[in-house]
Amino acid sequence: MADKFDIVVIGSGPAGYVGAIKAAQLGMTVACVELWADEKGGTVLGGTCLNVGCIPSKALLDSSQKFAEARDSFALHGIGVGKPKIDVPAMLDRKQKIVSQLTGGIAGLFKHNGVTVIQGRGKVLAGAKVEVTDKDGNRRIVEAGDVIIAAGSEPMRIPPAPVDGDTIVDSTGALEFTAVPKRLGVIGAGVIGLELGSVWGRLGAEVVLLEALDDFLPMMDTQIAKETHKIFKKQGLDIRLGARVTGTEVKKGKVEVTYDTAEGTHRETFDKLIVSVGRRPRSEELLASDSGVTLDERGFIYVNEFCATEAPHVYAVGDVVRGPMLAHKGSEEGVMVAERIAGKPAQLNYDCIPSVIYTHPEVAAVGKTEQQLKADGVDYKAGVFPFAASGRALAANDTDGMVKILADAQTDRILGAHIVGPSAADLTQQVVIAMEFGSSAEDLALMVFGHPTLSEAVHEAALAVDGHAIHIA
Ligand code: FAD
Repeated sequence: MADKFDIVVIGSGPAGYVGAIKAAQLGMTVACVELWADEKGGTVLGGTCLNVGCIPSKALLDSSQKFAEARDSFALHGIGVGKPKIDVPAMLDRKQKIVSQLTGGIAGLFKHNGVTVIQGRGKVLAGAKVEVTDKDGNRRIVEAGDVIIAAGSEPMRIPPAPVDGDTIVDSTGALEFTAVPKRLGVIGAGVIGLELGSVWGRLGAEVVLLEALDDFLPMMDTQIAKETHKIFKKQGLDIRLGARVTGTEVKKGKVEVTYDTAEGTHRETFDKLIVSVGRRPRSEELLASDSGVTLDERGFIYVNEFCATEAPHVYAVGDVVRGPMLAHKGSEEGVMVAERIAGKPAQLNYDCIPSVIYTHPEVAAVGKTEQQLKADGVDYKAGVFPFAASGRALAANDTDGMVKILADAQTDRILGAHIVGPSAADLTQQVVIAMEFGSSAEDLALMVFGHPTLSEAVHEAALAVDGHAIHIA
């Protein structure tokens, strides 16, 4: 195997594998170093996203949503199916098949594009060289024209709740429960905690989310966060804000959690506890001391807006660098870097990256929140349209939530969109496209939207920016 490549990528998650394929498509010789191996010693491609993140969580969210619909809403449609039962091992098996299909797909794409996979732990040395240590401890040096670090992130740990992989788990363990826990505690009411809490809550677990912050989803638009909180409460998710976990004790297969609130100290016993308090960059053991690559104060690899590190010919993309920890953000950084190495003037519009919480209803956003615009002193207009006024949402018995569009008061240019409601992720993407084209709210308002669609709620919210929504009084 050649030990010299135009590009060596470290990590095969969505940032690394997409960057590797793009670079190969641009005519470069590419190797991708990946340390993840399965029990048979095969290289596991796809990173967090495909193996223990986006894809398996969405597979379980979809299964559990179907179960909840069969239990809670089929009768409304006049469909009688009796009392649905959940076969958890079968559900996990389906999830695993999807993961295998997709990770196998990456192996196929690598082969098709001529990307060489090197199994082992990559370490960046001075002079854009990568040292790879395989599972037997053998080392080799791979020379690169340019290095792209895409080592990703891992779950954060907190001392009061040490993960034991059985009663106290992280997000990976929460994708593997073999039975529905009767009482499930979740530390952290962020994106991952809400998604995983929803999965098991829909299947019948009594879910309690303990969130240290006083505000629910503080990164979201406040109006949308409040509406989302209301909807989740109605669904029975017990979200306790200002609840700081101070200790846990595992006894006889259950876990007692101690937490403090403004009112005092409390205790709760759960069958399982998920620790989902955020993720941290996997930047340890990755850089030789003379690599020239630096870290910021939170351990992220320091990069500029083009993902170049401080070392010549070394780039870093995805969760290991600043910005939202999202698969699509990492993938587009991978593409940008590959194109820049190939001499193209690529750049990424960081103002237009959508983010989604895949609960039901979904919560999705792009651009600025109302509170950010206020803080920035921007003069803005807001248009809001509730799904309760959407014929299609009513037909689907899915009327919770709203679409909110924010536009510049002078130019009418769209500055943000925030949606909680059915298909919020796909609806937000429509506004992402509009924003990328520099659209005004009026541009959206003047477009023809099919009837009856959920998209009409986007149309109406755009009309509402100037007070002209048709279907609200
Ligand atoms: P990763 O996917 O973490 O991949 C990094 C890879 O690098 C890994 O395979 C790792 O083994 C390898 N590696 C690390 N160090 C080395 C080394 N030294 N040498 C060789 N290889 C190395 N994001 C979304 O956009 N949408 C979602 O719906 C979503 N859902 C999620 C659900 C869960 C439960 C979790 C945990 C995450 C979710 N995310 C989601 C986040 C998403 O998974 C990450 O943003 C994404 O995987 C980051 O991609 P990455 O390529 O930067 O890193």
